[in-house]
Amino acid sequence: MGPVSEPCFLSVVIPVYNEEENVEPLHQSVVTALSGLNRSYEIVYVDDGSTDGSLAKLEKIAEASPFATVIQLRRNFGQTAAMAAGIDHACGEIIVFLDADLQNDPADIPMLLAKLDEGYDLVSGWRKNRQDNWFWRKLPSTVANRIISFTTGVHLHDYGCTLKAYRSEVLKGIRLYGEMHRFIPAFARQVGATVTELPVNHRPRVHGQSKYGIGRTFRVVLDLATVKFLASFSGNPIYLFGGSGLVFIGLSLITGLIMVLNKLLYGIYFIQSPLLLLSALLFILGFQSILLGLTAELLVRTYHESQGKLTYVIRRIFRSKE
Ligand code: UDP
Ligand code: MG
Repeated sequence: MGPVSEPCFLSVVIPVYNEEENVEPLHQSVVTALSGLNRSYEIVYVDDGSTDGSLAKLEKIAEASPFATVIQLRRNFGQTAAMAAGIDHACGEIIVFLDADLQNDPADIPMLLAKLDEGYDLVSGWRKNRQDNWFWRKLPSTVANRIISFTTGVHLHDYGCTLKAYRSEVLKGIRLYGEMHRFIPAFARQVGATVTELPVNHRPRVHGQSKYGIGRTFRVVLDLATVKFLASFSGNPIYLFGGSGLVFIGLSLITGLIMVLNKLLYGIYFIQSPLLLLSALLFILGFQSILLGLTAELLVRTYHESQGKLTYVIRRIFRSKE
């Protein structure tokens, strides 16, 4: 833990995957940025199954500095899993995430902390002058951020920026799957956290390569569907499935009615038009959808009750001392 002896104030969590040339300068710049704070801190490096010399370098760092911890994962589990491991082993009241590739600037951390002090639970970095390829990185990211902001109702310019500061109580209850670390602000808002953003410095990658390509954009879109579903319907999935089921059955009945009218008014037999097929199809679809909703309701109950999960989140309880 950091230079001042108080219970752990700040944990900086850094996922590392093949960043051999970056970890040493990174460590130096984080220590420099934090030593001015005069608060206790730790730096948690999560080695996500690196196959280069990153781990050896991290081990050296951990030996030399008492406030650095290295968590070695058994294989490459991906950035989100690495960050989750970091959260589980961080002791700080505040957790800050940072990329290991020196693209984020640790000197921005005090500014993020000051913003948290204003009463926010989460401050997200915004790479206003992002130093990445425009076509492959910045353009898809701008589009994705607009869509995510619109869908989740949490308006941020830069969901993808790893540099974010969190009150750890907000993070502890959140389980992260897939590539979901970027959606933490949306999850946090669901449990009542206050979220804001601040422009941060961003630098080009000098050493090593980005671990991602354009394929990530598609994964983000799919993750967003899950996030939206969980946010809006995880407590009562029957409202989504049952709702659409009722719409389908309604359409089926209307189609049926048109068929009957066609027969009575124009003498068109049911089997002479495709409406019979359409009506039957819509009915089956609606019925199936409602059944799916009921199954999902069972799953939700299993999820909450087997894991002792609550359907609410308490911030504090006030009680008379006597
Ligand atoms: N990273 C990781 N596991 C992975 C891929 C990436 O821990 O499977 C780390 C990587 O070392 C870096 C951060 O996640 O610290 C972000 O990765 P990268 O810089 O490649 O992403 P970009 O900045 O290009 O979006
Ligand atoms: Mg990077």
